[in-house]
Amino acid sequence: MRNEVEFSSLRERMVATQIANRGIKGREVLEVMAKVPRHRFVLPKYLDSAYEDHPLPIGEGQTISQPYMVALMTECLGLKGVEKVLEVGTGSGYQSAILAELSKEVYTIERFESLAERAKKVLSDLEYKNVKVIVGDGSRGLEEEAPFDRIVVTAGAPVLPKSLADQLAEGGKMVIPVGGSFSQALLLVEKEKDKVKTTSVCGCVFVPLIGEYGWKR
Ligand code: SAM
Repeated sequence: MRNEVEFSSLRERMVATQIANRGIKGREVLEVMAKVPRHRFVLPKYLDSAYEDHPLPIGEGQTISQPYMVALMTECLGLKGVEKVLEVGTGSGYQSAILAELSKEVYTIERFESLAERAKKVLSDLEYKNVKVIVGDGSRGLEEEAPFDRIVVTAGAPVLPKSLADQLAEGGKMVIPVGGSFSQALLLVEKEKDKVKTTSVCGCVFVPLIGEYGWKR
């Protein structure tokens, strides 16, 4: 069993070799990736793999995303510490913690209650007070808290959900994987003067977004 000093040094190495080395430049993003204890969000049997360069199973057939993908999606959002953020797909809660470090408040929605409960517990143990975990269909967004300055979707959608585009604030940004059920393009969506501009960032592979505005199982 590794101790916290060893985990911290694995984290530093992860940031240098997997993240900075691949072109992520934002100082704040690199700092929080080096700070948030990813090993607390993985299942005990994967502790030794927590800082490896790939996703890991978290139960219910879902995954905690690859560290680089978490950093890239976060960098695309350009957070300044003042934003209201919606995350669709809480999973382990790891990306929620990264977002909580860099924004004002985070609403995160997960369709599996078991995953939401575990994420809630870890986030509360780590004393994140600006994250609200909600169980439900995040493809619908969260109408009662909209608009959001930033939206991050951590599951692949067949098309850009209109519900989420509608809930994005003026001047807001969203990152979302869109495409087939096995591979997608990571899209950066920006809303200016009520128009939506979409840029493709890279190819990616995410579990499917299942719900009213996603895949129908
Ligand atoms: N951000 C997560 C992390 O850091 O661990 C990774 C999440 S995993 C790649 C995607 C998650 O999206 C899964 O936990 C899955 O259950 C969830 N999901 C899929 N469709 C959803 C929906 N319609 N609403 C909410 N969550 C959904």
